[in-house]
Amino acid sequence: MIVAGNWKMNKNATETTELIGAISNGMGDTSTKVMVAPPFVNLAAAADSAKNTNIIVAAQNMHFAESGAFTGEVSASMLLHLGIDHVILGHSERRALFGEWDALLAKKADTALDKNMTVIFCFGEELHDRKNDIHFDVVKNQLSEGLFHLEANNWQNIILAYEPVWAIGTGETASPEQAQEMHAFIRKTLIERYDPDLADGVSILYGGSVKPGNARDIFSKPDVDGGLIGGASLNADDFLAIVQSA
Ligand code: PEP
Repeated sequence: MIVAGNWKMNKNATETTELIGAISNGMGDTSTKVMVAPPFVNLAAAADSAKNTNIIVAAQNMHFAESGAFTGEVSASMLLHLGIDHVILGHSERRALFGEWDALLAKKADTALDKNMTVIFCFGEELHDRKNDIHFDVVKNQLSEGLFHLEANNWQNIILAYEPVWAIGTGETASPEQAQEMHAFIRKTLIERYDPDLADGVSILYGGSVKPGNARDIFSKPDVDGGLIGGASLNADDFLAIVQSA
């Protein structure tokens, strides 16, 4: 199981150090892989605080180019220099608020994988897609356009995060059954494109208003391999309760 916290644009460097300290103190020797993704500016502090713990520090985004005239952007090499080798790509806020699209995400994934980084690839339908009953098509399309150009061996470094946009930060969660239904569909889609062994080996996280009160039911579903947590990852007690539910 994997539980990853997406801190979005929250916490300064001091708070980052404190929160990582509290998570690490409360984690015990869980077998769950625990990850946190602070903003770029706090990654150095986070990497330092997470040293000698089992917490993996991830970035929330990166550029596909090695370096150059890309004001405000950060490269894979810069992340690796800090010891950060996990990166979230394609979060719905990057897609909706910052105009990121499938072909761009495919390029970013290529760069990350070339650099031997692990990608947490986010995707998921919007509410109108579900209402129009095209949510399976939308998800399949996001996967095909973003990742299905990859060779099978690349998938060792990919974690999928299914995040229905209507459930992100809204307090509305997909029911455990809705999550399971989509995760099973994602695995079937991976079998069609690749093979059953690959599909079986890929971790598929659910994201969208996971809280201490609903985590256990969602994580109990057979095709749910953990969660990507937004709001509830900003509080150590809540995040730890979710980690313990995995
Ligand atoms: C997210 O942004 O990835 C997320 C799942 O947010 P929240 O848990 O707040 O819905």
